Amino acid sequence: MALIVQKYGGTSLANPDRIANVANRVVKGWQDGNRMVVVLSAMSGETDRLIALAKELAEDPDPRELDVLLATGEQVTVSLFSMFLRAQGVPATSLLSHQARIYTDGAYGRARIIGIDTARILEELKKGRVVTVAGFQGVDEVGNITTLGRGGSDTTAVAVAAVLKADLCEIYTDVDGVYTTDPRIYPKARKLQRIAYDEMLEMASLGAKVLEIRSVGFAKRYQVPLRVRSTFSNDPGTLMTVEDEEMEDIPVSGVALSKNDARITVTRVPDRPGIAVRLFKPVAQANIVVDMIIQNTGIDGYTDLTFTVPKGDLKKTLELMGPVAREIEAQQVSSDKNIAKVSIVGVGMKNNAGIAARMFEALARENINIMMISTSEIKISVVIEDKYGELAVRVLHDTFDLETPKPRRSSR
Ligand code: ASP
Ligand code: MG
Repeated sequence: MALIVQKYGGTSLANPDRIANVANRVVKGWQDGNRMVVVLSAMSGETDRLIALAKELAEDPDPRELDVLLATGEQVTVSLFSMFLRAQGVPATSLLSHQARIYTDGAYGRARIIGIDTARILEELKKGRVVTVAGFQGVDEVGNITTLGRGGSDTTAVAVAAVLKADLCEIYTDVDGVYTTDPRIYPKARKLQRIAYDEMLEMASLGAKVLEIRSVGFAKRYQVPLRVRSTFSNDPGTLMTVEDEEMEDIPVSGVALSKNDARITVTRVPDRPGIAVRLFKPVAQANIVVDMIIQNTGIDGYTDLTFTVPKGDLKKTLELMGPVAREIEAQQVSSDKNIAKVSIVGVGMKNNAGIAARMFEALARENINIMMISTSEIKISVVIEDKYGELAVRVLHDTFDLETPKPRRSSR
């Protein structure tokens, strides 16, 4: 008898028919003798609808009240779901965050889970009931309702699975797994049967929006076996797990494209201690996330600095850096919005030499100019002109033959 946590997203719960369809899956799991915990999102579009409603009455809605409002979306689905199960003769109980005892800090709209007291969930499971838990919401130390940020019900599911030491956490969504690249960019993209947590973290941060990224971090930390699969098919989806030798044989598992960044270059920056902190501190204080940072070796006491920030933060960053750049007498600050970041990701890069060279060679063959390069242990990213982004993805997908399932260990 296994303990299974399943999470269903908004599109899987969009109307009564879909709720019933999804619930039948849960019934099946329960009839097979498993203990079932079901974490739900709000019906699709509901959270957006509530935000719009709030904004009709307050331009900048009070964060505490907004969380009270947004949490209602998940209250609707867990109650409907349990109601349906009971009508089928399946015992079920819905639990809101304070009942499921999901405790968070007090940061409204982006709260972090700090602990879950499993007593109540376990008590319900012991009675043989299916437990439906409202995703996305939590309760702070003093009992205020909080929410975890958009897409947060994935995090609820993984956190609940972690504390319950569930045998499996399944995230049901409208795509049938994690692909080698976005199939809309390249139809040759292949669904991965398995992916290492670290690879998924890189892919998710690069824009593969299958899962909310914090949930993957949680899954890695607590080693929760996490499966992403579709509500609308019986495909087993993609399993996220710890990396093993088989995965390490494959140098590249996926290619990701991000067009969310802009580049900023500060030229002729004095090359002495304390300059970088003066430039970047105001940016950090404004909570702007700087991604790639490249500084050249100094020549004649000067150097150049290039980095990327989210496009939406470009204007603000330029405003913050302008005065500092003048103070330190840098030559100029320039920027470029028309860039794309293309990355190859794979835990096998650690053991395979020459991957970067193959990547650069493939791009050169297409005459794609590389503006910036950055690497981590399991990722190589390049910044190129944005109009070549999709082409680069296809070329790299072909170069590393991601279309073909690898025979794995036997290929050595
Ligand atoms: N309902 C919330 C949202 O739309 C949480 C979730 O769906 O994960 O962001
Ligand atoms: Mg969602």
